Amino acid sequence: MVERLDYTQQKAWSFTSGQQQSPIALTMAPSDVIEAADLFEWQVPYYGETLSDQANNMQLTGTGFAKFDHRNYRFVQLHFHAPAEHTIEGKQAAMEWHFVHENALGQKAVVAVTAVIGKENPQLNQLLAAFIPKTAIPLPEAILLTSLLPTRGLIYRYIGSLTTPPLSEGVEWFVAAEPLTISAEQLTEYRELFPQDNNRERQPLNQRSVMGYDISKGHTETEF
Ligand SMILES: [Zn+2]
Repeated sequence: MVERLDYTQQKAWSFTSGQQQSPIALTMAPSDVIEAADLFEWQVPYYGETLSDQANNMQLTGTGFAKFDHRNYRFVQLHFHAPAEHTIEGKQAAMEWHFVHENALGQKAVVAVTAVIGKENPQLNQLLAAFIPKTAIPLPEAILLTSLLPTRGLIYRYIGSLTTPPLSEGVEWFVAAEPLTISAEQLTEYRELFPQDNNRERQPLNQRSVMGYDISKGHTETEF
Protein backbone atom coordinates (compact mmCIF):
# COMPACT_ATOMS: atom_id res chain seq x y z
CA MET A 1 0.00 0.00 0.00
CA VAL A 2 1.27 3.40 -0.96
CA GLU A 3 1.55 5.83 1.93
CA ARG A 4 -0.85 8.74 1.77
CA LEU A 5 0.91 12.01 1.12
CA ASP A 6 -0.40 14.80 3.34
CA TYR A 7 -1.16 17.81 1.14
CA THR A 8 -2.02 19.92 4.19
CA GLN A 9 1.64 19.60 5.29
CA GLN A 10 3.33 20.19 1.95
CA LYS A 11 5.59 22.96 3.23
CA ALA A 12 7.33 20.22 5.21
CA TRP A 13 8.11 18.11 2.11
CA SER A 14 11.85 17.92 1.71
CA PHE A 15 13.59 18.69 -1.53
CA THR A 16 17.21 18.92 -2.53
CA SER A 17 17.07 21.98 -4.71
CA GLY A 18 14.47 24.65 -5.05
CA GLN A 19 14.80 27.04 -7.94
CA GLN A 20 12.95 25.08 -10.63
CA GLN A 21 9.90 23.66 -8.94
CA SER A 22 6.43 22.79 -10.25
CA PRO A 23 3.60 23.59 -10.62
CA ILE A 24 3.58 27.26 -11.64
CA ALA A 25 1.09 29.86 -12.85
CA LEU A 26 1.19 29.81 -16.66
CA THR A 27 0.66 32.91 -18.76
CA MET A 28 1.62 33.68 -22.33
CA ALA A 29 1.30 36.78 -24.52
CA PRO A 30 -0.30 35.73 -27.84
CA SER A 31 2.50 37.58 -29.68
CA ASP A 32 5.10 35.27 -28.06
CA VAL A 33 3.50 32.04 -29.30
CA ILE A 34 5.57 30.07 -31.79
CA GLU A 35 3.94 27.92 -34.47
CA ALA A 36 5.18 24.37 -34.06
CA ALA A 37 2.92 21.73 -35.56
CA ASP A 38 5.64 19.12 -35.02
CA LEU A 39 6.23 19.74 -31.29
CA PHE A 40 4.41 16.48 -30.53
CA GLU A 41 4.58 13.44 -32.76
CA TRP A 42 2.37 10.71 -31.36
CA GLN A 43 3.99 7.60 -32.80
CA VAL A 44 1.70 4.77 -31.72
CA PRO A 45 -1.63 4.33 -29.93
CA TYR A 46 -1.39 4.90 -26.17
CA TYR A 47 -2.85 2.21 -23.92
CA GLY A 48 -3.48 2.09 -20.18
CA GLU A 49 -2.97 -1.39 -18.79
CA THR A 50 -2.64 -1.50 -15.00
CA LEU A 51 -4.69 0.62 -12.62
CA SER A 52 -3.43 1.19 -9.09
CA ASP A 53 -4.51 3.02 -5.95
CA GLN A 54 -1.82 5.57 -5.02
CA ALA A 55 -3.71 6.65 -1.87
CA ASN A 56 -3.97 10.26 -3.10
CA ASN A 57 -5.02 9.43 -6.64
CA MET A 58 -5.23 6.62 -9.13
CA GLN A 59 -2.47 5.75 -11.53
CA LEU A 60 -2.66 3.98 -14.84
CA THR A 61 0.55 2.49 -16.19
CA GLY A 62 0.69 1.66 -19.85
CA THR A 63 2.45 1.88 -23.17
CA GLY A 64 2.95 4.54 -25.80
CA PHE A 65 5.67 6.27 -27.74
CA ALA A 66 6.13 9.85 -28.90
CA LYS A 67 8.64 12.40 -30.08
CA PHE A 68 8.72 15.70 -28.22
CA ASP A 69 10.59 18.30 -30.22
CA HIS A 70 12.12 15.42 -32.23
CA ARG A 71 13.36 13.52 -29.16
CA ASN A 72 12.12 10.03 -28.29
CA TYR A 73 10.01 9.41 -25.19
CA ARG A 74 8.19 6.40 -23.82
CA PHE A 75 4.87 6.78 -22.04
CA VAL A 76 5.08 5.36 -18.52
CA GLN A 77 1.93 6.28 -16.60
CA LEU A 78 -1.06 8.58 -16.30
CA HIS A 79 -2.21 9.92 -12.93
CA PHE A 80 -4.62 12.55 -11.71
CA HIS A 81 -4.72 15.71 -9.64
CA ALA A 82 -7.87 17.38 -8.32
CA PRO A 83 -8.03 20.32 -8.47
CA ALA A 84 -5.50 21.22 -11.19
CA GLU A 85 -1.91 22.05 -10.19
CA HIS A 86 -0.97 24.58 -12.88
CA THR A 87 -3.15 27.61 -13.43
CA ILE A 88 -3.63 28.66 -17.05
CA GLU A 89 -4.02 32.42 -17.54
CA GLY A 90 -5.22 32.66 -13.94
CA LYS A 91 -7.73 29.82 -14.13
CA GLN A 92 -7.59 26.59 -12.13
CA ALA A 93 -9.41 23.62 -13.69
CA ALA A 94 -11.25 20.88 -11.77
CA MET A 95 -8.60 18.29 -12.62
CA GLU A 96 -5.19 17.94 -14.22
CA TRP A 97 -4.07 14.72 -15.84
CA HIS A 98 -0.35 13.94 -16.02
CA PHE A 99 0.99 11.72 -18.80
CA VAL A 100 4.47 10.90 -17.49
CA HIS A 101 7.10 10.02 -20.11
CA GLU A 102 10.72 9.00 -19.92
CA ASN A 103 13.57 8.91 -22.43
CA ALA A 104 16.42 6.43 -22.72
CA LEU A 105 18.48 8.49 -20.25
CA GLY A 106 15.70 8.38 -17.65
CA GLN A 107 14.85 12.06 -18.13
CA LYS A 108 11.19 12.80 -17.52
CA ALA A 109 8.73 14.79 -19.61
CA VAL A 110 5.16 15.30 -18.49
CA VAL A 111 2.31 16.15 -20.84
CA ALA A 112 -0.36 17.77 -18.67
CA VAL A 113 -3.95 18.20 -19.78
CA THR A 114 -6.56 19.89 -17.60
CA ALA A 115 -10.18 18.79 -17.34
CA VAL A 116 -13.16 21.09 -16.89
CA ILE A 117 -16.83 20.28 -16.30
CA GLY A 118 -18.70 19.51 -19.51
CA LYS A 119 -19.35 16.36 -21.51
CA GLU A 120 -18.49 13.11 -19.78
CA ASN A 121 -15.15 11.50 -20.53
CA PRO A 122 -15.36 7.89 -21.73
CA GLN A 123 -11.91 6.84 -20.50
CA LEU A 124 -12.56 8.22 -17.02
CA ASN A 125 -15.77 6.18 -16.94
CA GLN A 126 -13.81 3.03 -17.75
CA LEU A 127 -11.28 3.83 -15.03
CA LEU A 128 -13.88 4.61 -12.38
CA ALA A 129 -15.67 1.36 -13.21
CA ALA A 130 -12.45 -0.69 -12.99
CA PHE A 131 -10.91 0.97 -9.92
CA ILE A 132 -10.64 -1.13 -6.77
CA PRO A 133 -9.28 0.67 -3.69
CA LYS A 134 -5.97 -0.55 -2.21
CA THR A 135 -5.08 -2.67 -5.23
CA ALA A 136 -3.05 -2.60 -8.41
CA ILE A 137 -4.88 -4.58 -11.05
CA PRO A 138 -4.21 -5.33 -14.69
CA LEU A 139 -7.31 -4.14 -16.55
CA PRO A 140 -9.32 -6.90 -18.26
CA GLU A 141 -8.97 -4.90 -21.46
CA ALA A 142 -6.42 -2.16 -22.13
CA ILE A 143 -7.92 1.34 -22.32
CA LEU A 144 -7.12 3.36 -25.44
CA LEU A 145 -5.81 6.76 -24.32
CA THR A 146 -4.75 8.29 -27.64
CA SER A 147 -7.77 10.62 -27.95
CA LEU A 148 -6.78 12.30 -24.66
CA LEU A 149 -3.45 13.53 -26.05
CA PRO A 150 -3.25 17.15 -27.22
CA THR A 151 -3.29 17.69 -30.99
CA ARG A 152 -4.19 21.37 -31.23
CA GLY A 153 -4.06 24.69 -29.45
CA LEU A 154 -1.42 26.28 -27.26
CA ILE A 155 1.14 24.24 -25.35
CA TYR A 156 3.09 25.85 -22.49
CA ARG A 157 6.58 24.44 -22.12
CA TYR A 158 9.01 24.97 -19.26
CA ILE A 159 11.53 23.15 -17.09
CA GLY A 160 10.32 22.20 -13.63
CA SER A 161 10.06 19.35 -11.19
CA LEU A 162 7.99 16.43 -10.04
CA THR A 163 5.10 17.81 -7.96
CA THR A 164 5.36 15.08 -5.32
CA PRO A 165 8.42 14.11 -3.24
CA PRO A 166 11.28 13.75 -4.08
CA LEU A 167 10.30 16.85 -6.16
CA SER A 168 13.25 16.14 -8.48
CA GLU A 169 14.06 18.89 -10.97
CA GLY A 170 14.98 18.66 -14.66
CA VAL A 171 11.47 17.60 -15.62
CA GLU A 172 10.28 18.98 -18.95
CA TRP A 173 6.65 20.15 -18.77
CA PHE A 174 4.22 20.49 -21.66
CA VAL A 175 0.88 21.85 -20.45
CA ALA A 176 -2.02 22.01 -22.91
CA ALA A 177 -4.21 25.13 -22.82
CA GLU A 178 -7.14 23.28 -24.35
CA PRO A 179 -8.91 21.23 -21.65
CA LEU A 180 -10.58 17.86 -21.74
CA THR A 181 -14.07 17.66 -20.30
CA ILE A 182 -15.51 15.46 -17.57
CA SER A 183 -19.05 15.49 -16.24
CA ALA A 184 -19.98 16.88 -12.82
CA GLU A 185 -21.06 13.33 -11.88
CA GLN A 186 -17.65 11.93 -12.82
CA LEU A 187 -15.91 14.55 -10.71
CA THR A 188 -18.18 13.73 -7.76
CA GLU A 189 -17.49 10.02 -8.17
CA TYR A 190 -13.74 10.64 -8.37
CA ARG A 191 -13.77 12.94 -5.34
CA GLU A 192 -15.66 10.32 -3.32
CA LEU A 193 -12.68 8.00 -3.89
CA PHE A 194 -10.10 10.76 -3.29
CA PRO A 195 -11.65 13.45 -1.10
CA GLN A 196 -8.39 15.20 -0.16
CA ASP A 197 -7.12 17.83 -2.62
CA ASN A 198 -3.88 16.59 -4.16
CA ASN A 199 -2.62 19.71 -5.87
CA ARG A 200 0.74 21.06 -4.82
CA GLU A 201 0.87 24.83 -4.26
CA ARG A 202 2.18 26.87 -7.16
CA GLN A 203 5.90 27.60 -7.00
CA PRO A 204 7.93 30.70 -7.93
CA LEU A 205 9.04 30.96 -11.56
CA ASN A 206 12.46 32.39 -10.58
CA GLN A 207 14.79 32.73 -13.58
CA ARG A 208 12.86 30.39 -15.84
CA SER A 209 11.08 31.24 -19.04
CA VAL A 210 7.88 29.66 -20.29
CA MET A 211 7.60 29.01 -24.02
CA GLY A 212 4.32 28.86 -25.92
CA TYR A 213 3.75 26.68 -28.99
CA ASP A 214 0.72 26.54 -31.22
CA ILE A 215 0.52 22.95 -32.43
CA SER A 216 -2.64 23.45 -34.54
CA LYS A 217 -1.34 24.89 -37.77
CA GLY A 218 -0.38 22.48 -40.52
CA HIS A 219 -0.90 19.57 -38.19
CA THR A 220 -1.74 16.29 -39.83
CA GLU A 221 -4.42 14.71 -37.69
CA THR A 222 -3.19 11.51 -36.04
CA GLU A 223 -5.47 8.63 -36.90
CA PHE A 224 -5.30 5.60 -34.68
ZN1 LIG B 1 1.28 14.63 -11.26
